[in-house]
This record gives sequence, structure tokens and C-alpha cells, in this order.
Amino acid sequence: MEFSELENLENEGIETLPSEERRKFLRFGMAVTGVFLGGSVLSLTSARNARGGLGPIPEAGKFPYKPHYSMVIKQNRCIDCERCKEACVKTNKVPSYGYRTTILELEKDLGNKGKERVFMPVLCNHCNRPPCVRVCPTTATYKDKKNGIVMMDKKRCIGCKTCMAACPYNARYFDEEVRAVDKCNFCFDTRLEKGETKTACAAACPAGVRIFGDLTDYDSELYALVHAPEKVVWVLRPETGAMPNVFYMND
Ligand code: SF4
Ligand code: SF4
Ligand code: SF4
Repeated sequence: MEFSELENLENEGIETLPSEERRKFLRFGMAVTGVFLGGSVLSLTSARNARGGLGPIPEAGKFPYKPHYSMVIKQNRCIDCERCKEACVKTNKVPSYGYRTTILELEKDLGNKGKERVFMPVLCNHCNRPPCVRVCPTTATYKDKKNGIVMMDKKRCIGCKTCMAACPYNARYFDEEVRAVDKCNFCFDTRLEKGETKTACAAACPAGVRIFGDLTDYDSELYALVHAPEKVVWVLRPETGAMPNVFYMND
């Protein structure tokens, strides 16, 4: 899919589905892209060599934001305990039909060794080129100029749901009470602004799956993980050109 085609996508209406259905939808949505578990793995080496080309990682010294908030997800550690979801719901007052983060699941074919169930946490990728921001007619969704978080100004939202259709990650839902779209903002108002250094999901995860941090902090765990030369790091749906700030890896 070309980046420009995102604007022509129709609203898939997943906000009306019960959570289990939504989960299946998301699973399907990711599966058909062929990127899950090896379809389109982007190695760090290729990201480095791309140097501002196709690589999702901004070149050293060229980060547009400081801090440049990002998350690494150590996917193989996820045990689907959903504590991250619970913490998110409680912290950010997410209604029962909504979600800011969820866990996709898939059976991985191991050939002769049978099959393995694997889980993949997903959330807003706080894209460097966010299609949701491009299509919003009211600037209700915007990229924070300081930290790069893709934010919602709910007062400006007219509920047209164009951003929901444009998001390649199905990371948004419509909040019926507020009559506005809602999504993950890395707990900016509920935690970061109050001095916390981790998102609620990262703090609640008992398996060390979610590592949140500042990609411009060269001493951080996040930076070390994303730049570890021996690691394969990948992003979801790189073909959309959204340039996500959520990176996946296995231990
Ligand atoms: S993941 Fe979706 S909602 Fe988040 S910034 Fe990217 S396009 Fe926007
Ligand atoms: S639903 Fe709200 S945030 Fe989304 S595109 Fe429409 S006005 Fe913008
Ligand atoms: S809390 Fe951690 S291990 Fe549990 S579902 Fe969430 S990411 Fe996976």
C-alpha cells in the first residue's frame, strides 16, 4: 500500500465490535499484511545502512524531538497476562469497549515441532509520519512539537473517524462518552507530566516486555536495545511509510 492510499481507506468500524471480536479483527488485520513474525523484518543493520532512507530509526544527531519517546517490545517475553491492559484502563479511564493497547495472538508454525502460540502487544506507534495527523481536518490529532507524542485535543475532535481509517495499526477507538477519538498518548497527562518515567503498561508488565524511554538518551536501556548490533529489530507495517516509534525484538 502506498502512503497516499491511506487517506482513501474506509472506516472499518471496529469500535462497534465487542472486544473479543475486535481482537480477532486486529489479529486478522495484522496477519494479512504479512509482517507478523518474519514477513517484513527490518534488521537494525538495514535500518542503519538506510541512513534516512527507508530506515525507521532517525540518524544519530537528527532526532526531531527531545525527548524522542519510543518503546521497545520484547515480543517473545509476552505471556498474555493482560496486566498492561488493566493498568492502562485504570490509569487512562479507558471504557470497556475501547482500548489504548491490546495483545494480538497467533499460532506460529514450527514445522516438524508443531505450533506455538505467540503474543504481540500493540499500541499507537507514535509514528514519525503519522497518517492520522495528516488526515485530521481539525488538527484535533497532532504531533507534539517537543516530544513527538501523537496527541488528541478532544475539544477539537468532530468525531469524523477519518483518523481511525487512516491509522495502519488500528490504534484508535471512538469514545462514546466524550464523543471524540481516543488513543494511547504514552500516558503523557496521567504519568509522564507528573514525573513518572514509565508508561502504565511498561510499569505493570511482570515480564519486562515493554521498555519505554527516550531514543535520544544514549545511556538508556531503550537506546542500547534498539542499537544492539547483534539484535534484529523490526517495526510493524513498514510499507506504509508511517515510520513507527515502537520497535519489536526477541530476547
Ligand atoms: S499508530 Fe496510528 S494513531 Fe498512532 S501515530 Fe501512527 S497512525 Fe496515528
Ligand atoms: S475523528 Fe477527530 S481526531 Fe479523528 S480525524 Fe476526525 S476530527 Fe480528527
Ligand atoms: S503485561 Fe507484559 S506480559 Fe502481560 S500481556 Fe502485557 S506485555 Fe504481555
